[in-house]
Amino acid sequence: MTDNKLFGTNGIRFIPGKEYGLDFIVNMGLSIGTFFDKPDIIVGFDGRNSSPSISRAISAGLMESGKNVISAGMVPTPALQLITKNSYDGGVMITASHNPSEYNGIKVISSNGIEVSRSEEKIIENIYFQQKYNRQNWENVGKISSDTSSINNYIHSVIQNVDSSSIKNRKLKIVIDSGNGTQALAAPLISESLGCEVITVNNHIDGTFSGRGGEPTPDTLKFLSQSVVENNADIGVGFDGDGDRSIFCDEKGIVFWGDKSGTLVSEHLINKGIKSPIVTTIATSLIIEKVASKYNVNVHRTKVGSVDVSHKMLELDSKFGFEENGGCLYSPHVAVRDGGMGTALMLELLSFSDTTLSENLSTLPNFYQSKTKFSCPIDSRESIIHDIASSISEEIDQTDGLKIHWSENSWSLIRPSGTEPIIRLFSESDSQSHLDAIMTKCSTLVNDLIKNLNS
Ligand code: MG
Repeated sequence: MTDNKLFGTNGIRFIPGKEYGLDFIVNMGLSIGTFFDKPDIIVGFDGRNSSPSISRAISAGLMESGKNVISAGMVPTPALQLITKNSYDGGVMITASHNPSEYNGIKVISSNGIEVSRSEEKIIENIYFQQKYNRQNWENVGKISSDTSSINNYIHSVIQNVDSSSIKNRKLKIVIDSGNGTQALAAPLISESLGCEVITVNNHIDGTFSGRGGEPTPDTLKFLSQSVVENNADIGVGFDGDGDRSIFCDEKGIVFWGDKSGTLVSEHLINKGIKSPIVTTIATSLIIEKVASKYNVNVHRTKVGSVDVSHKMLELDSKFGFEENGGCLYSPHVAVRDGGMGTALMLELLSFSDTTLSENLSTLPNFYQSKTKFSCPIDSRESIIHDIASSISEEIDQTDGLKIHWSENSWSLIRPSGTEPIIRLFSESDSQSHLDAIMTKCSTLVNDLIKNLNS
């Protein structure tokens, strides 16, 4: 973190007790409370060991600024966002999403349920750095109360937003891997309410994410994949630590990234009559353009990060957005990424036909993808990416990091992580051999420049 920047791609992330102590958290509560105009702010937290104490420190700062705190308790992030949209003036979620268990973080949520915009993040940072706190005296400090209805309301809204009788009639079997995160509190209940037979793994909340870590990927979801096959299930889903991302697995145990599930859901919604622009990031597959163009539906691409997708959806009155990392955003419910809503939409998709999930996937155009990451000091990442941009003769796009268009059906994206000291590399091509070649070329470029830093 630099001196004047606290927010990354998704809120503020840090190691409590190492990078920042509770005094920082109280001051952030004061800053956030000073930022909000209206009085009632709901505060929720994920299952991390440090979350209960951080949520209390944030609440203390909010109350000192005169805001009333409503404690939601431990919740999935999308449940807190939904109740903020429906009932409160703002929200704060204490979570570091999928980051390792020593991390924690702060997400600030506007009254529309979406995380605050990049410019609003800057306002909060300025209040913090300039200590322009709106402190109140003893007569005007905020009150505290609790509202434990977030999860029930959330489950109800997800179910209301799909064709529950169609899903019930299909009698699907689902394996749910909550990854010891907070979707354990909602996703199994949503699926049961939709008439599914539910099998759970890693379904106890554990702040160390002892089962398979907090991030759902094909590598970390091997046990889910096995469980789907052994139980003869129709679908498997794995969530991240705070339940806003969902990565799926077909009935054969094949785990696939969110651009495939996002494209399948997009096509399903179009067929259901919901024909609005689709929003995704520059990091997702070309398959969405290939599929959406069949229906004359526009695809809009944003910077990487669900906040950018959410705000673009609002701007375009888009109903659906998605991310390759498993973010799935459905605005009739709330325009934020939501693992529970994504799961219900996948179940609805399956219920509209007799085809299996693998058969649905086989209808998508065939592209190959690869991703990797490189450790790199935070301050050196921009110059490395700049040096690569100047050495490339192909068409480039610098919306976010560096996207290189090698050919019509091949691209690479090199960008700094918003939350960690790493550079990420994604590539896609319609040919495996070309994919291997562009991954090797980019990896060599990045590795050589990182080596030069140390020489
Ligand atoms: Mg998350």
